[in-house]
Amino acid sequence: MLQHRGQDAAGIVTGNGLFFREKKDNGLVKDVFHQDDMIALDGFIGMGHVRYPTSGTLNASEAQPFFVNAPYGIYLIHNGNLTNADLLREKVMKKYRRHLRTKSDSEVLLNVFADKIHQQLKDESDINDIDRIFEAVKMTMKDLEGAYSVLCLIDEVGLLAFRDPHGIRPLCMGKRSTSRGNEWAFASENVAFSPIQFEKVRDVIPGEAIIVTHDGTVHQRQCAKGQLNPCIFEYVYLARPDSILDGISVYKTQLRLGQTLAKQIKKANLKIDSIVPVPDSSRPVALEISKELGIKYREGLVKNRYVGRTFIMPGQEIREKSVRRKLNIIGLEFRNRNVLLVDDSIVRGTTMRQIIEMCRQAGAKKIYVASAAPPVIFPNVYGVDMPTRRELVANQLDTEEVQKILGADALFYQKLEDLIWAAREGNPEIETFEDSCFSGNYVTKDITEKYLADLEIRQERIDEEPISLPNI
Ligand code: AMP
Repeated sequence: MLQHRGQDAAGIVTGNGLFFREKKDNGLVKDVFHQDDMIALDGFIGMGHVRYPTSGTLNASEAQPFFVNAPYGIYLIHNGNLTNADLLREKVMKKYRRHLRTKSDSEVLLNVFADKIHQQLKDESDINDIDRIFEAVKMTMKDLEGAYSVLCLIDEVGLLAFRDPHGIRPLCMGKRSTSRGNEWAFASENVAFSPIQFEKVRDVIPGEAIIVTHDGTVHQRQCAKGQLNPCIFEYVYLARPDSILDGISVYKTQLRLGQTLAKQIKKANLKIDSIVPVPDSSRPVALEISKELGIKYREGLVKNRYVGRTFIMPGQEIREKSVRRKLNIIGLEFRNRNVLLVDDSIVRGTTMRQIIEMCRQAGAKKIYVASAAPPVIFPNVYGVDMPTRRELVANQLDTEEVQKILGADALFYQKLEDLIWAAREGNPEIETFEDSCFSGNYVTKDITEKYLADLEIRQERIDEEPISLPNI
């Protein structure tokens, strides 16, 4: 149910307080886990992860969960990205004298946490003291910067969940009542719950930690003062439309994004024959624009579901070819028509430029473009894969220039205040969203010009490295 959040690697660990069972590898869930793996993954407690690398490499050794064998024996999975991972890496290696085997920030996080628990366990009786674990989370939160929704399976203790004090990445808690008592689950999106008959109980609060001990008891503690700043890109692109994150329906947000775009388009007074979404994530937006403008909605693009991600492929030429393999047009929907294409976002501009070229070849008269997201101007450093500034088409060019580069006859970008309105309508209690890729305002104060410049240098190096890509 969460495969859309990461397609590069997958892992599961299970246990029963005496042993752990683990399987992880590169690839999709259906390719990593076979029936014999599932039979071998026994126990009454477990967690799984799908990986979408925003730091580190694509090596299978960086698939999660990560493990340290002391104290207790801890498995960890992490959604997000630490922004002070380099600093912590040095501390872990030089001060704590711990060995790190990968380039992943999540392994750093695990070792920081393990060291804090180690500091908390002063004598043997401490081992059963839940407060020691909460204290360790508190200390860990003091050290970490960035975004982290974390789950840990701790031997002799149970399952621990915690969310960063800014509440950037989502994390929610679910429950299933059985004749044996209550069972508990945590997930990035509540869509994970219903197929296994769990119900969402609530979102984990920013700065909060929850431990479900092996006997099924739930312990809760606020480990840092927190304020919710959910990543606004979740509602635009990342999360499934049937999810509700921090009280906000992703689907309804997307409908509202259609309403605000429709207002802009109406003012332009264009003659539009039909509205065509770029599948899949922009369908609700396009549907609502069509309803608001009273113009017919048409499916003019077909997605090949079996082609892997085009977005992270290295090299512009490969990305362009891959868009054509991934998306094909239904020519008769474009011939002699004025069409409004709707996509959730324009990042490098590769996808839209290729689509427009195909539409022209099919004989379209006018091609107008609407983006459900505002111009993407800055990289995302909190766990959404975004290219560096110089690759972002809107970082280099203004809207008119982007329109030209795309080859469109008009271009409508969502206004940032409309995006914020569309999301906040779902939960007016949220004061601020993490919207840095549109605004340049990063909620953690450690993102400086130097940080972004270093990111660019690092990215250039990665682009030069030959990497083996799974599932293309
Ligand atoms: P681009 O071709 O670089 O302009 O990227 C825009 C397309 O990529 C849109 O169709 C989006 O649905 C999709 N997209 C946007 N952000 C991401 C992301 N972080 N990871 C993967 N795909 C994305």
